[in-house]
Amino acid sequence: MSHKFGITENVLELIGNTPMIKLNKITEKLDGKFYTKFEGYNPGHSTKDRIALHIIEQAEKQGLIKKGTTIIETTSGNTGFSIAMVSIIKGYDCILAVSSKSSNDKIDMLKAMGAKVYVCPAHVSADDPRSYYNVAKRLHSEIADSVYINQYFNQLNVDAHYNTTGPEIWEQTNGKITHLVAASGTGGTISGTAKYLKEQNPNIKILGVDAFGSVLKKFHETGELDLEESYPYRIEGLGKNLIPTATDFEVIDKFEKVSDEDSAHRAREIALTEGIFAGYTSGAAMQATFQLAEKGEFDKNSNVVVIFPDHGSRYMSKIYSDDWMREQGFFDTEKFAQAEIEFV
Ligand code: PMP
Repeated sequence: MSHKFGITENVLELIGNTPMIKLNKITEKLDGKFYTKFEGYNPGHSTKDRIALHIIEQAEKQGLIKKGTTIIETTSGNTGFSIAMVSIIKGYDCILAVSSKSSNDKIDMLKAMGAKVYVCPAHVSADDPRSYYNVAKRLHSEIADSVYINQYFNQLNVDAHYNTTGPEIWEQTNGKITHLVAASGTGGTISGTAKYLKEQNPNIKILGVDAFGSVLKKFHETGELDLEESYPYRIEGLGKNLIPTATDFEVIDKFEKVSDEDSAHRAREIALTEGIFAGYTSGAAMQATFQLAEKGEFDKNSNVVVIFPDHGSRYMSKIYSDDWMREQGFFDTEKFAQAEIEFV
């Protein structure tokens, strides 16, 4: 981890210690100072590198895996890429059950990293045998020497962020952070980071980002899983139709829900204003930040850290494709048409 400017033993040493970047233009009209922890800087281009490395190394320590073991996971793409990357270096086989909602780029990338990929229907309930949870569970029971990472229900997912993301943010802000804004999927990022930060300063506000179509916000407010809240949406990796045990709802102060369209626009605005090419949930987190600002969450003394979980290159066939944006009815000529291509 400390060799960023020398020669590293392998790609895994570059995981973590991601930069914190001040946001300037995009937030100029808001009260407070805003920073992003840009997880797209990890070698696997997302925050999931941290959990893949931590969970696999813990399994090694416990003697659960050896060379040739098959590592199985359900994934929206990012966790899969990170597990595939760690597996290549450490000599494991990798099987991934992904949602059909995942972009083609993500699925191709997993294959390029040597993983065997099962694409499972996105819009079935978690207990359907075709859901990616059940496909992964079935494969785990069928393959003798296999481990199932199970990120939604694995405390090690949370620990990875408690050990690394939390301390990094505390150090990078010199303890001055007042608010954390983080997208919640498994909840590992927000829960582990928040636990560490609240241990340092219990007054830090932890603001979770959820999607319209997901059950997390309602569960946080009522303690009940209301499946009427659940309907299809496009953002990958944000929100859920079940309650993951990797989410510690106690450390989260509130959730803000965002839409597919606003989040896509906000991601493109981040690129055009800050020159940071970030993923769809980064747009979601930025959009939530704006909605919370409008509701008076921040003042001029606020130091707000917004986590950008992954890199925009994962979404070339989605939010960064004008055709895809048009198909969704999201295209905004005024905002996006300023860069032209000329054929000669
Ligand atoms: N953004 C993206 C792009 C993701 O893939 C995920 C993970 N599902 C998240 C955000 C949410 O992170 P976590 O699972 O740690 O809550």
